[in-house]
Amino acid sequence: MREFYKQLRDRGVYATSILKAILRTLKSSKGPLSINEIRFELGKKNFQPNKTTLYRQLTKLAEAEVVQESLFTDEIRRYCLLLGRKPHHHFVCQECGYAEHLPEEICNSFEHQIARHLAGKGNEVTVQTIEFEGLCQKCKHKLTDSL
Ligand SMILES: [Zn+2]
Ligand SMILES: [Zn+2]
Repeated sequence: MREFYKQLRDRGVYATSILKAILRTLKSSKGPLSINEIRFELGKKNFQPNKTTLYRQLTKLAEAEVVQESLFTDEIRRYCLLLGRKPHHHFVCQECGYAEHLPEEICNSFEHQIARHLAGKGNEVTVQTIEFEGLCQKCKHKLTDSL
């Protein structure tokens, strides 16, 4: 862990108590979190960072590849922890904003196939943005119940 914080420090991210709280919050989440959701969770632990500070921290963490930043069609950036995990895709509910990480194995094999397909044609992928959106179980039920 000390080595990890040293690497972060080299990138201008300091092991403050708030940074640790951000990492813990992301670690315990089943899905990627927006800045507002992270602020809400931090508030429960008596941290009150302003949005700009939090955004800067998360951007640095994303540059250090500690955190994955994803943009969805609601134009909300969501963040998740990458430690010990490869970049992956997500599912977000367009109705309630519920978000979950998709299993790495599935993401990896499908990315691998697409990359091979493109490489076969001489193309090179530099940016990849694939996220899945729709209705979560709860919202889907709510919709069918209201019919
Ligand atoms: Zn939902
Ligand atoms: Zn994720």
